[in-house]
Amino acid sequence: MIGHKNHRLLKQGDGYGQVESFVFRGRQFYVKRDDKLDPWLSGNKYWKLYSLMQLPAQCYTRLISYGGTQSNAMLALAALCAKKSWEFHYTSKTVARHLKQHLTGNLKDALNFGMKLHEVAPQDYESNVQKLRNLQNPKHLLIAQGGADPIAQAGVNQLADEIKQWQQQNKLRQLNIVLPSGTGTTAYYLAKALPDLTIYTTAVVGDKAYLLCQIDQLGSRVKNLNILVPDKKYHFAKPYSELMVMYKELLHAGIEFDLIYGALMWQTLLQHADKLSGTVLYVHSGGLKGNITMFDRYKNKGFR
Ligand SMILES: *Cc1c(COP(=O)(O)O)cnc(C)c1O
Repeated sequence: MIGHKNHRLLKQGDGYGQVESFVFRGRQFYVKRDDKLDPWLSGNKYWKLYSLMQLPAQCYTRLISYGGTQSNAMLALAALCAKKSWEFHYTSKTVARHLKQHLTGNLKDALNFGMKLHEVAPQDYESNVQKLRNLQNPKHLLIAQGGADPIAQAGVNQLADEIKQWQQQNKLRQLNIVLPSGTGTTAYYLAKALPDLTIYTTAVVGDKAYLLCQIDQLGSRVKNLNILVPDKKYHFAKPYSELMVMYKELLHAGIEFDLIYGALMWQTLLQHADKLSGTVLYVHSGGLKGNITMFDRYKNKGFR
């Protein structure tokens, strides 16, 4: 069932995502290359699932989650479960038949890792997700959609430690941290762990109000978390020619980012760049494996 071979997976102990200098549009930035931590558990998913990664395999027999079928969190959980020999059960809305016949991207990789996909009709999705919450077996663990889960905090604290270390090594008194948000879990726990730094993010799933609701479910608000708003409304994971232009320009400048979160974060960051004085450290949130399906979407829309 599990189709993966010798992928370099969950390498532990070398978790230092190196910080690189990155000059973009004439301005000096720094990028923490967490996309390089692990090809399958990349970027913030590495940190959000860090505490699970440290657990002995015997703790659980099964992980359960739910959400979109091209989700980066889904792929990371599938990789983690393959590594731990845990079953991975994932509930999603029905996958279109043409997609099932031409499996690509994160869904294809997650299924190769042995993920068991439970498709339910869209109208039954919410009730099915509710049912997942009634776990009976203590060896089963439910992870909220996108890994928006308190288990993420311990790992994000590790990320915060690495950032503090870099700040000290470079004797920076002031530092701005930038990273995109889906559920806001990474940005929120990072802001909590780094009260002396300013964290800038943008809402990629939904708008600012939606992101604040998500964050409110994690804990009380923090003052050092700033949500930058893009100059127009962007729908999640939809192709926009300017985001493809941004992706290509970033790539040309030396770093590949993901087309959903990274491209929009940079787009928004540059619109607000004059507000950020001092050193800017962008924390790469990974997700490059998902670019394959985004390229297809752009192609189908006639964008290149
Ligand atoms: C999951 C993901 C995010 C969002 O992380 P949250 O902690 O849910 O805000 C951002 N960027 C990429 C590339 C991701 O895969």
